[in-house]
Amino acid sequence: MQPYMTHLAHNLLLGLDRGELVSLVAGLDEPAYRAQQLLDGIYRKRLESIDRISTFPQALRSKLVGDGYTIGLPAVEKRFVSIDGTVRYLIALTDGQTVETVWMPEGDGGEAGDGTEAGDSAQNGPRGWDRATICVSSQVGCAVDCQFCLTALLGVKRNLTAGEIVGQVLRVLTDQNVSPPQDRVNLVFMGMGEPFLNYDNFIKAVRLLVEEVGIAESRMTVSTAGIVPRIHDFGLEAIRPKLAISLNASNDETRTRLMPINRKWSLATLITAARDFPLRNRERITFEYVLLDGVNDDTTNAEEVVTLLRGLPSKVNLIALNPGPGIDFLTPTADRVSAFQNVLIKSGIPTFVRRPRGRDIFAACGQLKRTVEIATSPAL
Ligand code: SF4
Repeated sequence: MQPYMTHLAHNLLLGLDRGELVSLVAGLDEPAYRAQQLLDGIYRKRLESIDRISTFPQALRSKLVGDGYTIGLPAVEKRFVSIDGTVRYLIALTDGQTVETVWMPEGDGGEAGDGTEAGDSAQNGPRGWDRATICVSSQVGCAVDCQFCLTALLGVKRNLTAGEIVGQVLRVLTDQNVSPPQDRVNLVFMGMGEPFLNYDNFIKAVRLLVEEVGIAESRMTVSTAGIVPRIHDFGLEAIRPKLAISLNASNDETRTRLMPINRKWSLATLITAARDFPLRNRERITFEYVLLDGVNDDTTNAEEVVTLLRGLPSKVNLIALNPGPGIDFLTPTADRVSAFQNVLIKSGIPTFVRRPRGRDIFAACGQLKRTVEIATSPAL
């Protein structure tokens, strides 16, 4: 299989947008309002089978099934619940590949903030959480090879389709009995994979999630390791999440060591793209920075970050390394993390330390794909 080949599943309805469904029903000689009924059934009601689209006459359901159509929702293969309320889902795709998706409730009954810009706090009362964030994957594995990331150990298997990206969200919403927009849910495209190396499917998924599922784009953040040409493209999108850049180093030497992609797009190129990015009113670019003990976590590194980001509307999320087998770095002490944070805050950069979520179930940043490694490696 080609590493970047997108799985081409035939006759799956999940992932089709309004225009494509209008064409589909026109091809069946059905009135155009059937497209809206399909949209409702797939994206709002999150139905699992065509037989359950009750707004369709039986004959039409049978025709679609007879023509080989299915909705194509991915399945929850496993579910790991953390003591902090985080749930890590192993999601099985139609070709047997798996990805991971993480549910992070916050507020009453869930841990407070993981540092993502969660926006306002919806009062969901009896549910036991105030707001929640879903961390979504964009590829099976990842090609970017960040040296501190467990996902990188797998390499990339393939891109996810738009339907598979949306399907992860729908599965988690159903499992948690949550329905946007009434329930305030944030999405972060920070799971397995580099979204900007699967750009078209990622953007199509975003549009479906905004227009059909009902999650506002202001509640979404995408993180890139720094695929500079796509940062430019992303800035031109009419509908887009907020932008986060995975920085992780304060100079080219360290960044190239930690993120080989820095050889292709250097820090200067990346920061120029960030400065050129057309921000909306009151928007800031988030810079993610994984702190590795003795590698990139000195206060001199923090001062270099201040220089890089000077004058750029930004905020910084610091993540003390989430350890894992096969990762040759150590987690810095809380004192080193605070010292780093203080340098940035004193320079006027809003800087947050993200609390690890679900470390006990390998759901924290950089830890995804642990389950598949266990499943595929007899040595573990
Ligand atoms: S940190 Fe993100 S971009 Fe880097 S290897 Fe892991 S999943 Fe890929």
